[in-house]
Amino acid sequence: MVVAASEENLILSTQLGWPAAAYLHIPFCRQRCYYCDFATGLGTRELMETYVQRLCQEIGGAYRYRHLAGDPQPLTSIFFGGGTPSLLTVEQLGRILAQLRERIPFHPNCEISLEANPGTLTREQLAGYRDLGVNRISLGVQAFQPELLAACGRLHGVEEVYEAVADLQAVGFENFNLDLIFGLPYQTLEHWQQSLQAVLEINPTHVSIYDLTIEPGTRFGRMYRPGDAPLPTEETTVEMYLMARELLTQAGYIHYEISNFARPGYACRHNRVYWENRPYFGFGMGSVGYEEGRRIQQPKTLYDYFEQVKAKAHPLPPEASPEEVWMDTLMLGLRLQEGLDLGHLQERFGDNKLKQALERLDPYFEKGWASCEAGRLRLIPPEGWLFSNEVLKDLLA
Ligand code: SF4
Repeated sequence: MVVAASEENLILSTQLGWPAAAYLHIPFCRQRCYYCDFATGLGTRELMETYVQRLCQEIGGAYRYRHLAGDPQPLTSIFFGGGTPSLLTVEQLGRILAQLRERIPFHPNCEISLEANPGTLTREQLAGYRDLGVNRISLGVQAFQPELLAACGRLHGVEEVYEAVADLQAVGFENFNLDLIFGLPYQTLEHWQQSLQAVLEINPTHVSIYDLTIEPGTRFGRMYRPGDAPLPTEETTVEMYLMARELLTQAGYIHYEISNFARPGYACRHNRVYWENRPYFGFGMGSVGYEEGRRIQQPKTLYDYFEQVKAKAHPLPPEASPEEVWMDTLMLGLRLQEGLDLGHLQERFGDNKLKQALERLDPYFEKGWASCEAGRLRLIPPEGWLFSNEVLKDLLA
């Protein structure tokens, strides 16, 4: 039985020195979903193997860590994202993890997450991942209606979702997330309710719900204009969000972040690193890391990434300015249910900054969309979260 990584043993890292979290990007998918603008593409077996080799070279290269002060600290979370990391064979994933462990120790209770798509997994493969230490799977489900899945270019049907869940459970993955998207073309409130109910019947430890964004440059960007049919109206998507919150919290999930719900003790440890604006490594093409106070964007094409690894280069941008750190801390931390610690904000950014922020939030305190109580600054759901963009715009103006 796989043991779920609990939050109790989380080691809080400092801003500087070796990060305690690592993101690894696997930029391959079987087909591009119509809404997706992530750094991903189609890959042959050969290209994926070359990528794994380059990724291992990056992870294993001493040049990659020269800018870091002090000694490596154990990784408390590792996240394989994409793309579709479940296109990796067990042997390839094993090689990457072995290379990483050779460079940086793993905390004994390290959370190791892997994103997977239904239809790309077998039970044997999952058992192999589990034996390598993967203890959390995030499954991209998106919807439980075959016509909606087809309309957004997903390659799997609903049956494959249930098969993937049965396989996860059969090999002992107790800790898994299901991703859903609301605001899809042709999606109705009834569809959304059905999808939420299907999720509740499956009873995962974690649920993420994302509001569809029509990105320029995607197939949807060429097909639809935000707000126009067949996309649901903004009022409908607000209702969808509220419905998700109601059904999931009634079922005992904690709405711990704007888009995320978890059973107690199962919040995603890795994603909390981002929201708490703590450092993390970003390995692989297109990944972003936050190391020594610098946001490091890796090359966005395979060619440039391979060239960079070949040259043993790891270009460092300037350190984020205090103003950027302040804005990131607010933007990210206010996504969390518990918000931000006022004492910490004051200590780190000073009285003036904090005073100014509180003044700007005043109208929202009055509306009940934000609060400043018991030493914490928070946005209050549902309005504070539904309209967080508006609040943050005023706050950071
Ligand atoms: S599977 Fe995920 S990463 Fe790949 S194209 Fe679809 S949404 Fe994008």
